[in-house]
Amino acid sequence: MKKSFIVAMTALTLFSCGEKAFKSDLKTPSVEEFDYTVEEFSDKAILRYRVPDIEVLTTAQKELLYYLTEAALQGRDIIFDQNCIHNLPIRRALEAIYTNTADRTSDNFRGLELYLKEVWVSNGIHHHYSGDKFTPTFAQDYFIAEVKKVPVESLKLREGQDIDGLLAEIVPVIFDPSIYKKRTNQASGVDLITTSAGNYYGEGVTQKEAEDFYNKMKDPNDKEPVMYGLNSKLIEKDGFLSEDVYKIGGLYSSALEKVVYWLEKAAAVAENDAQKAAINKMIEFNKSGNLKDFDAYAILWVNDTASQIDFINGFTETYGDPLGMKGSWEAMVNFKNIGATKRTEIISANAQWFEQHSPAEDRFKKENVKGITAKVITAAILAGDCYPTTPIGINLPNSNWIRAAHGSKSVTIDNITEAYGEAAKGNGFAEEFYWSSEEVALVEKYGQITSSLHTDLHECLGHASGKLLPGVDPDALKAYGSTIEEARADLFALYFMGDNKVVELGLLPDTNAYKAEYYTYFTNGLLTQLTRIVPGDNIEESHMRNRQLIAKWVLEKSKDDRAIEIVVRDGENFVKINDYKKVQLHIGELLALIQQIKSTGNYSAAHDLVENYAVKVDRAINQQIRDRYAKLNIKPYKGFVNPVYTPVYDKNGKFIDLKIDYTEGYAEQHLRYSKDYSHL
Ligand code: ZN
Repeated sequence: MKKSFIVAMTALTLFSCGEKAFKSDLKTPSVEEFDYTVEEFSDKAILRYRVPDIEVLTTAQKELLYYLTEAALQGRDIIFDQNCIHNLPIRRALEAIYTNTADRTSDNFRGLELYLKEVWVSNGIHHHYSGDKFTPTFAQDYFIAEVKKVPVESLKLREGQDIDGLLAEIVPVIFDPSIYKKRTNQASGVDLITTSAGNYYGEGVTQKEAEDFYNKMKDPNDKEPVMYGLNSKLIEKDGFLSEDVYKIGGLYSSALEKVVYWLEKAAAVAENDAQKAAINKMIEFNKSGNLKDFDAYAILWVNDTASQIDFINGFTETYGDPLGMKGSWEAMVNFKNIGATKRTEIISANAQWFEQHSPAEDRFKKENVKGITAKVITAAILAGDCYPTTPIGINLPNSNWIRAAHGSKSVTIDNITEAYGEAAKGNGFAEEFYWSSEEVALVEKYGQITSSLHTDLHECLGHASGKLLPGVDPDALKAYGSTIEEARADLFALYFMGDNKVVELGLLPDTNAYKAEYYTYFTNGLLTQLTRIVPGDNIEESHMRNRQLIAKWVLEKSKDDRAIEIVVRDGENFVKINDYKKVQLHIGELLALIQQIKSTGNYSAAHDLVENYAVKVDRAINQQIRDRYAKLNIKPYKGFVNPVYTPVYDKNGKFIDLKIDYTEGYAEQHLRYSKDYSHL
């Protein structure tokens, strides 16, 4: 399947050796010829992603894009330091050994290499997802001896520190499992700050002190509160607490100066005044550190909807802080995927048609439904807390009052989703869990397009459809509300994917395509999602609940007509769909029922549906699915390498083109970033 890719990669490698770039007329490689997998280790796969249509951006847009990608990469060290104060010296020591030692084969070297790769994925010594500290599989003596051999300048020692001082600092942090155990502790009953390894609070600051400090700042009458604490480290000096603010002239100044240097170049070539104003406000915020400037920036950013190129750059999400206030530094540069955004525009433009043709009772339908146009984007660079692991959708800003007063931007990142999907092909999953080669071929052919369309219909129409009867409390379904709501949106999407209208509108290529979505959806809802359930547990997460609810309900409805059934072959369970059209009818019946429950606020009906279909797990099937999954050895976590951008200037220094190269390796990329973008 990937044969054509090998040919293409050879060509690319030649280019990169020669002039380090493609010819500018070179088109984005096709899905078939692109190799999505870079390498795998421990529980991770490293992927690369295409940047389709970058070649059709104008020269001016390419110039802007390039400056923004540079601004994004300049902040890399910040996230390492935020995750743990010892991350940077540890990373540097590991990289120095990795690049200098002649021994590349001993167990100790291989252990160190693995550890370094883990550190790169997680921007530090704690697992990016679980937050647990990594356990080194190389010897402490080996590490100490190797550090002493490397050129001392490669260690970038702290001021006044010598090699012994460095070792005294980092050796226990790496090798003593009892310290810095957890990056962000969420366990209740302990001091979350002093038990977390994160560097958002200074030495000696306790949770109680931090909470008191920020509670005092908050004014309950303030209708437009800033995001308190977002851009600072809270420290204790001479018995007093104060904020060490992330800004030029403050904490992380040397990195932020570089960020601003490139943002200024970007502002000068912005696509329009609205975008220029947003970039300039971001620059101002980096200089002032004043959170009012940050809010002003967020408002300008959310209002800039006309620009094709867009970006995030700064202290944004607060998951890394156990108190949920401090922003980790992240950046992403992207441009609107015009073709895919057109897809969501077509859906929105036909919102009323879909509403009218929904199987729900007319009294529960909206007279005037407005679909939401979600923007589909192509990521051009991932950085900071978005790199190497990254989300596939973004919804910002986080400030509640700004969202209420000015709205938010919601985007899905198509080329990252594509990379996940394409990399998963050929991993044996389909062959293991799908009934026959017919289903494998069906999903192979249509799976990507139908899964994107499902997301679009779910987001643009599903959640926007239907209405509550007058006087019904929107929270009437209480704890069952989110499962019912997600089921409603999924059912709306599933029902209409099987309608010829979506083929008429050009959203699916033919009237067979929807079957791929039905097959994967029911296989997931009835079987494969159970791999995430630890034996003995129930299903808690509302998306997982809604999928099982739909799948089990439709399966039960199929008892007589056998539209869908579970068949056992050699002791293994499979989903078999015998009549896709009848499945669609059952989906319509459940949609009508769920819309009725939602519109009338029928709590007991919601309770019964969820408790009977969505929560409980068959223990034997749970274990069977987990065993079959384990056999496939699929890496649960994915990281990415970025493409490499090289600007082309004419002899007068004028920007004339941007080259993109996809061939950089994982270690190669991190070592280059550590050389070129290490400012702390
Ligand atoms: Zn949803």
